[in-house]
Amino acid sequence: MNVKSVKLQSTLSGQEFPFDLIEEFTAEGESLEVVVPGITGAKIQPGRFLWERFADFLPFSSVDSGVSLGEGNTPLIQAGKLLTSHTGIENLLLKNETVNPTWSFKDRGSLCCVWMAKEMKEKVTATISTGNMGHSLSAYGARAGLNVLVFVPSFTPVEKILAMNVHGATVLKVGALDYSLMKNTILGLAKEFSLRIVSGNGPIRAEGYKLTAFEMFEQMNRTVPDFIAVPTSACGHIRGIFKGYRELREAGLTERLPKMIVVQAANNSPIVSAIKQGKNHIIPFSNFKTIAEAITSGNPAGGDEIVQKAHRHGWLAEDVAEDEIIESQRMLARAGFFVEPATATSLRAVKKLREQGKISSNHTVVIMLTGSGLKDMDVLRAQPQSVVESSLKTIQADLHKILRSHFKTPSDA
Ligand SMILES: *Cc1c(COP(=O)(O)O)cnc(C)c1O
Repeated sequence: MNVKSVKLQSTLSGQEFPFDLIEEFTAEGESLEVVVPGITGAKIQPGRFLWERFADFLPFSSVDSGVSLGEGNTPLIQAGKLLTSHTGIENLLLKNETVNPTWSFKDRGSLCCVWMAKEMKEKVTATISTGNMGHSLSAYGARAGLNVLVFVPSFTPVEKILAMNVHGATVLKVGALDYSLMKNTILGLAKEFSLRIVSGNGPIRAEGYKLTAFEMFEQMNRTVPDFIAVPTSACGHIRGIFKGYRELREAGLTERLPKMIVVQAANNSPIVSAIKQGKNHIIPFSNFKTIAEAITSGNPAGGDEIVQKAHRHGWLAEDVAEDEIIESQRMLARAGFFVEPATATSLRAVKKLREQGKISSNHTVVIMLTGSGLKDMDVLRAQPQSVVESSLKTIQADLHKILRSHFKTPSDA
């Protein structure tokens, strides 16, 4: 057994469960988290891989590095002049998770899910996904020699389904108007089929995401940012990152915790609405439409944990309208970062919070760039197109025109 004496604990009631529990939530829908023994004495060790340096913090006592696809080690870089002046935040950092093996942060969680599946000697690993998680698990399943089953809703972009297919996964496209309803129905089948259906907010996935906090802690010379903005859907990413910082504090490596910024699309904001209205429970959304298709959980299981943590720790929350998402995707691209719409929400949220005075200009703010723009090509049609049609006959005149008019700088005008 390569698992330490680890337990799962409900994040709300505190009730304890065995680590190998098939279901990822309590019967009441509360999210579970891994309690790793001995965190107070945990140390950062020398080692090449993140999971070696932070081995004391992981539930596994040994891991198979052969399952890794080289996830993580992603750049944390200054956002640059354009985005700094756009948001009014001097120390704005971007954590570029789009450079992971399947171009989203999901790979960090998939690594842990595949470790778990191997540990439990499972032949099949399954997930429910609007795309990125399915794509990621398909790649990691292929790497580990596991059968992968992905349940997708019918609105999943074709790029993501094609990617799952090419990795050899079996895709089950489920007709359902409401994604959360579909998800909860399928999760309800887990026990009946003894199938570990890993969701975006499972306890093992969150262990993968907490490694992101450790990586940023190293990248920031063992300091903690004031704020971290995370586009949120199933809630696994945001709680995983925060758990990482909590554990660093428990281990005495820092005294501070970052404040998280929960970001959602205005058209689907069950968590942000609840936080803004001072409620203790999420406000479910259904029958909505948003171009931010990677953040479409309208009734996320485990969402109450985030709402209640937000109240307890003074987190911020903001929602972003559809036209603002498209504009932010363009802004990020003009600054050199090609992200998908769900990811672009954070930039606008941070700008709004700065305008409201909830973030000040000298705060250190990290924006998580969760997924690549290549993930959903269709939405790019919403951006202004500027292709000049030319031919060998007209190219000289076209070039003349472009160099004279297109590239005017403000000082030429
Ligand atoms: C999954 C995903 C999110 C949301 O993360 P959760 O863990 O589900 O809250 C945000 N952005 C992108 C690109 C994603 O793939």
